[in-house]
Amino acid sequence: MTSSFYPPHRTLMGPGPSDVSARVLSALARPTIGHLDPLFVDLMDQIKELLQYAFQTSNELTLPISAPGSAGMEACFVNLVSPGDTVIVCQNGVFGGRMKENVERCGATAIMVEDSWGEPVSIDKVSTAFDQHPEASILAFVHAETSTGVRSDAAALCALAAARGALSIVDTVTSLGGIELLVDAWGADAVYSGSQKCLSCIPGISPVTFSPRAVERIRNRKHKVQSWFLDMQLIMGYWGGDSKRAYHHTAPVNDLYALHEALLMLREEGLEAAHLRHRRNHEALVAGLEAMGLAMVVAPEYRLPQLNLVAVPAGVDDAAVRGALLKEFDLEIGAGLGALAGKTWRIGLMGFASNERNVLYCLNALEAVMAAQGAVFAAGKAIPAARAVFES
Ligand SMILES: *Cc1c(COP(=O)(O)O)cnc(C)c1O
Repeated sequence: MTSSFYPPHRTLMGPGPSDVSARVLSALARPTIGHLDPLFVDLMDQIKELLQYAFQTSNELTLPISAPGSAGMEACFVNLVSPGDTVIVCQNGVFGGRMKENVERCGATAIMVEDSWGEPVSIDKVSTAFDQHPEASILAFVHAETSTGVRSDAAALCALAAARGALSIVDTVTSLGGIELLVDAWGADAVYSGSQKCLSCIPGISPVTFSPRAVERIRNRKHKVQSWFLDMQLIMGYWGGDSKRAYHHTAPVNDLYALHEALLMLREEGLEAAHLRHRRNHEALVAGLEAMGLAMVVAPEYRLPQLNLVAVPAGVDDAAVRGALLKEFDLEIGAGLGALAGKTWRIGLMGFASNERNVLYCLNALEAVMAAQGAVFAAGKAIPAARAVFES
């Protein structure tokens, strides 16, 4: 017999989704109205404004795609890349590999600039790639690599693309709301994000924004965009402009109530305050982990405060620890990926989940589980070390 599904209350400290606040969940449960209802059209306008604030942009073409972050990625590529184009793609983790897939499926050539997992994108290597491929019309990179917890210098990369006459496609799925992201000041051209990382909304929505230069390239396309659903010219008719909204697809009405609430919470707190909160909780977590004798993998200058890559100590069973955290503490942390699988944990402090309680809860749970599994570490030191950061 099947019955209603009642999930447990987990604490989500992995690579996303992050904990969704009661405020956002209750917005989701409000009455569904028609997606062309004048009140819903007003809500769409407010969401656009709130997204412009979150992205720090005045781009007209700023909206939430009705699908997850991967669809936002695909929207940027299919609209800006034409068959025969050359695109420089930076890869220093999982998501650069997906960008390559997108470029090739558009019938274009991907020139890969590779850096090791755990390192940021090398500006020098990208510069050399442009020297060798002056025909490259786009530079694509990930601002915050969720697979490794590394921040790349998005300002410098966007400036480099602009200096070479190329557009930039920037993955900000994990950066939006967690660290500084200045779309206009950096001159980023096509930027996509996700709802379930530092916005702490439910998964399944992808905010995107396109610069006037990017919009011009879309308008001047000679080939039809290969995806009907993600063709921005069609989506613009639904979301954009002052004209009557044309039906394109049925917006996920209640999901957008939730996104609106999450963005409102971000604006109420203020971007700078949100970034500071992420930084402070990260510092407390790191102080606690290091006091236990655990080591961070990424160099301090490139670390993402919202995604912490921790080395699994020698002799400790990665999967057994994660399993016990979930079973005994309802606490989810992430596994390592690729070459880092089995050797690292990814501890997220994203959005609403970035708070003092979660930092202390995670350190406490990790201590208990590691002690139960007979691991050797400095017991009893993590909580005082984290507290010292909160009290400083
Ligand atoms: C999570 C993530 C994505 C994909 O988002 P989905 O919502 O899972 O499709 C893309 N890029 C980065 C950097 C991410 O962290």
